[in-house]
Amino acid sequence: MEPAVGILRIPSNSFVKICVVCKQIHCSCTQCCKCSTYYHAICASRAGYRMELHCMEKNGKQVTKMVSYCAYHRAPNLDTVLIIHTPKGVFSARSLA
Ligand SMILES: [Zn+2]
Ligand SMILES: [Zn+2]
Repeated sequence: MEPAVGILRIPSNSFVKICVVCKQIHCSCTQCCKCSTYYHAICASRAGYRMELHCMEKNGKQVTKMVSYCAYHRAPNLDTVLIIHTPKGVFSARSLA
């Protein structure tokens, strides 16, 4: 784990949040859909946070929406880390890491 460099230089840009997993400010973070916890998508998948991909078609275009949950709001079932919702059904996958 690297030291938390730059923690005293928090940018005013509200889209750049400190990731609760790696404590770094690089890149933009995703937010838990139930609370204001921020983290990188890649960190969330490494940490086993629950993520849902909602794939749908809108006006003939493929739209994918990602919904994720923090450590507190994730489902207790650790086997279903990634849930994929498609028009054909719902699939679940173990962590891709
Ligand atoms: Zn991170
Ligand atoms: Zn949450």
